Amino acid sequence: MQIPRLLMSYLRDLPADLLPLVEQIADLAMDLRWTWSHGGDAMWKIMDPQLWEQSENPFVVLQNLSHERLQTLSQDQEFRQHLDRLVEARNRYCSCGGWFGEVHDNAGLRRIAYFSMEYGLGKALPLYAGGLGVLAGDYLKAASDLAVPVIAVGLLYQEGYFRQMLDTSGWQQEIYPYNDSSSLPLHPLRAHNGTWLSIPIRLPGRTVQLHVWEARVGRVSLYLLDSNNPLNSALDRGITGKLYGGGEEIRLVQEIVLGIGGWQLIEALALEIDVCHLNEGHAAFVTLERARCFAQKRQMDFHEALWATRPGNLFTTHTPVAAGFDTFPRALMIKYGLPYARNLGMPLDELMAFGRSNGQDDDEPFNMAYLAARTCGMMNGVSRLHGQVSRSIFQKLYPQWPECEVPVTHVTNGVHVPSWDSPWADEIWTDSCGKGRWLGSEETLATKIHKLDDAALWNLCGQERADLVRHARQRMRILQGQRGADTEAISQVDRILDPNVLTLGFARRFTAYKRPNLLLHDRERLARLLTRTDRPVQLVVAGKAHPADNEGKRFIQEWAQFSSRPDVRNHVVFLEDYDIALAQELVQGVDIWINTPRRPWEASGTSGMKVLANGGLNLSELDGWWAEAYTPDAGWALGDGREHHEPGWDAMEAEQLYRLLEEEIIPMFYDRDASGIPAAWVARMRTSMAHLAPQFSSNRMVREYVEQLYLPAAAAFQQRTAPGSSTARELRQWDEQLKRSWHEIHWGNLIVSQDEQGWLFEVPVYLGGIPPESVQVQLYADPIEGKVPVREAMQRGNEMPGAVNGYLYTARLNTLRAHTDFTPRCIAHHPDACIPIENHLIHWWSGIVSLKNL
Ligand SMILES: *Cc1c(COP(=O)(O)O)cnc(C)c1O
Repeated sequence: MQIPRLLMSYLRDLPADLLPLVEQIADLAMDLRWTWSHGGDAMWKIMDPQLWEQSENPFVVLQNLSHERLQTLSQDQEFRQHLDRLVEARNRYCSCGGWFGEVHDNAGLRRIAYFSMEYGLGKALPLYAGGLGVLAGDYLKAASDLAVPVIAVGLLYQEGYFRQMLDTSGWQQEIYPYNDSSSLPLHPLRAHNGTWLSIPIRLPGRTVQLHVWEARVGRVSLYLLDSNNPLNSALDRGITGKLYGGGEEIRLVQEIVLGIGGWQLIEALALEIDVCHLNEGHAAFVTLERARCFAQKRQMDFHEALWATRPGNLFTTHTPVAAGFDTFPRALMIKYGLPYARNLGMPLDELMAFGRSNGQDDDEPFNMAYLAARTCGMMNGVSRLHGQVSRSIFQKLYPQWPECEVPVTHVTNGVHVPSWDSPWADEIWTDSCGKGRWLGSEETLATKIHKLDDAALWNLCGQERADLVRHARQRMRILQGQRGADTEAISQVDRILDPNVLTLGFARRFTAYKRPNLLLHDRERLARLLTRTDRPVQLVVAGKAHPADNEGKRFIQEWAQFSSRPDVRNHVVFLEDYDIALAQELVQGVDIWINTPRRPWEASGTSGMKVLANGGLNLSELDGWWAEAYTPDAGWALGDGREHHEPGWDAMEAEQLYRLLEEEIIPMFYDRDASGIPAAWVARMRTSMAHLAPQFSSNRMVREYVEQLYLPAAAAFQQRTAPGSSTARELRQWDEQLKRSWHEIHWGNLIVSQDEQGWLFEVPVYLGGIPPESVQVQLYADPIEGKVPVREAMQRGNEMPGAVNGYLYTARLNTLRAHTDFTPRCIAHHPDACIPIENHLIHWWSGIVSLKNL
């Protein structure tokens, strides 16, 4: 193992006999598996109880341990036993076949490279801003648990995302603590000759040298590119300075580093990658660089190489509005894109066309999501609803294709349950479902959870709520101390919140579409609802606003001010600096998790999934994941499942929110039986835990990615790139010819007749210069009620007399639908091509219909 720098200086004066011990401990402390696997907690605590309590970070404990303490520990039998057990458990974890090994070992999927701008793995490695990063972190953890062969690529930010503090008026202040890379659980990646691996990347007028760090996430390696290298100019050292800080230009350069630098890293490590998975469009340059390198190796032209590599690229989009995509203006693309286009052997406009909906429009900026769509073999959204929304957003890349056929599928997000469940929940789940419950199929979990009795579940709730109250008070105490409050004010903190009171949670990014102030719509009504003495309610709120989002900051200020009102201040707290650690405390302790986005702006949302295993219930807009998860026996729904733009709709939903709380949720929580248990409430908890927690776990998500997307992508990629295979070349020629001659296709009159076998459709098609094998003529009808559309291939007859390359196409349909529902169309066809993502040429029949024998 490589020892990080700081540790190295620590080791310098260490007695040699302690070295093996430190190495063993370091090996465990540097594997971020400890963020979700708590088998080692007791050992870290033995090492230094106080440091452990303060940091909950083994790596910090290790680095702050005195030599004397190490000496003592090395003699301590109990400690040595703990250590041996942990090392053995880790070896077992890393070497077992896991779900992937058991189910798909022979499927020929070699490796997936996952690319993301952010990774939320925990406090110890703060490289995330919000949901996108937390999802990437949960994905890596689940991939490790399931033994899916994944490596990941990202950037190491010196300052990461900002930390939040509120000033006395409740206005957000941003602080950027320095991420000292030498004290993070990372090791520098070294080349064979022992030097630090350096990835050169060409930028206009200079070459930037990127250092590479490796973080271990169980079995998964996460490689982080870092421009903070003394060999680079001061300006270039700052490229990986901040996450989502700085302007457009630095963002573009970061995306060049992630995509192009990221692929260069894979080449440098000589990793065999089948699937490149783009978590959002930020990394889309990787598809170009991958094809460029392939072209160089196989001595082929770039476009042919892209035909070869494209099926191995997968694009996951996370944005529900077109305005959410990253775009770059032409001027910036001239500066950075022109040299790269030369590298690819094409003029700038050809490169620009990859990122435009209309290649001819010089004013259209370069859109990273379009680049991804044009260079990936598959695309997916992150919930069922978001898949549908994405099909409408991307429709303009598939002109004249029906929206339902736009090639965007969906894999609904999930959360890594072991990272979010409370110790109490873990105990209950382990007792009823066993330790391996999130490591494969989850079919049997529901039945087992259904057997849990009321008292056990209600007890779980109480323990978790008490923990949350304790944590919230502790946070407020620290905060008050930091503000220099007097002891009187600090002792006030112990009156905040009550472990026996119905607890609502709301935490998310403060931005307009999430409507974080919907609950504040009628403050007096909210205050009354909170403070009823017979049925009190309390509310814990948290969230950051983007530094440039003043409206978001005003929402925060409104909450800060409301929570300081004397009548409600013990019932409402705003907890500063929402991050993974705070999210864990909240999702474990709340009874109800509230989510109020404006539909359809929440692509998925994951925070509500985090309460499921802990027994929390969701009260949420029917948007994102909740639109497919909601059932009336497992939670509550806001809105009517439709989009609304009319003024006054927010007020309507605020009214609905209050009404649900006042008339259903609060009464149900306080309706107790003789033993003090709310039976109806607990029944809901049980349903939500049994049916939703398994379904919205990253265990299910990663298995879906593997089975629905990675395996077919890898197979197609391997076929196209097999040595000596001519498929890619052939496809390129096929595609060029179709594009050249497509306009030559024209139709004759459509003849429709009916007999006892149903409809008969006959239509002459003249194909011009296109070979008939290169197209398919179909009868198409729009889907009815959520079904798939009808796409019936028409049969080609012999060449028509007197025609050149003209044929009569026929199809018979036995259907109750009217013949007018069906329209012939001609689309591209090749046994190895994926239509319409790789070729979206389409020619619809139009003209005169003649009816016969009707
Ligand atoms: C889970 C999580 C998110 C994402 O939550 P949403 O449901 O998308 O609002 C954001 N930030 C943190 C810290 C999280 O833990």
